[in-house]
Amino acid sequence: MIGEFPPAPGRTPAANRIGHPARHDLHPVDPGRRLVVAITARALFDLEESHSLFETEGIDAYAGHQRQHENDPLTPGIAFPLVRKLLAIKALGRDDLPEIEVILLSRNSADTGLRIFNSIEHYGLDIVRAVFTSGAPVYPYIKPFDADLFLSANPESVHHALDHGIAAATILPSKAPERPSDQLRIAFDGDAVLFGDESERISQEQGVDAFADHERSRAEEPLSGGPFHRFLAALHRIQDAFPSAASPIRTALVTARSAPAHKRVILTLRHWGVRLDEALFLGGRDKGPFLRAFGADIFFDDSPHNIENARQHVASGHVPHGVSNRG
Ligand SMILES: [Mg+2]
Repeated sequence: MIGEFPPAPGRTPAANRIGHPARHDLHPVDPGRRLVVAITARALFDLEESHSLFETEGIDAYAGHQRQHENDPLTPGIAFPLVRKLLAIKALGRDDLPEIEVILLSRNSADTGLRIFNSIEHYGLDIVRAVFTSGAPVYPYIKPFDADLFLSANPESVHHALDHGIAAATILPSKAPERPSDQLRIAFDGDAVLFGDESERISQEQGVDAFADHERSRAEEPLSGGPFHRFLAALHRIQDAFPSAASPIRTALVTARSAPAHKRVILTLRHWGVRLDEALFLGGRDKGPFLRAFGADIFFDDSPHNIENARQHVASGHVPHGVSNRG
């Protein structure tokens, strides 16, 4: 089933704009002052039921089902609160804020994707650019959109985005209680997420004592930036436009590090000039209950073990990067 929107091979994709007047053309934007989140339909909405129909009965049954239910709004998915809250910040319409944009990428055809756009309209989400690939991979379009963050249920797409230096995570089925608060709360693991995995490698290859010695002796030496470094910096640019008590975004570092390995992290963040509102040095305690206490709308971690625990408590995205994901 071929929709009318997939871009011709070899061309930069012309984004589809549906629903809202696209004022964006009139204002060329400095990329440094923009936060772009690319999200797939399965991360934004709960499409698990129709996806399993696709897997068991094929594309025609899936397409028929979506057309039949075209006017039934989809249930919000794992990353819906993140998107809704980001778009609420955008809706403030403040000139001093970086431009925020959410882009929808979908392997649906434009035809079956109509239900997705109807749902976007139902929830009043200001998403105007979208790509529908009719079953082809969506990842070639992440880079041309200059996305700062890519969220998908498809690990292959996420791997590809990470390989191109884009913060990306595989959204897993999670417990996702949306807090009544409108503040967007994002929690990050440290090693191999905000930071490179160089210290994590020492820990896994030489043990925790060697890791502690290594980090103590290099406390003054900043860690390298990891896959989510640039996304954190983009959030920081938004936070900077607000007094800290009134910020619409709150961030937390939730790391298995503990003293004395905390110092290198703190000095690295100081070196970057980036603020995290909360820092939890948990020394190996399960992260889930702490993430729930923080009220994370989403948590990003490279460790499958940590994500398995976290997703019992909050929406979680696995970052398949670094030594914990080798082999
Ligand atoms: Mg880690």
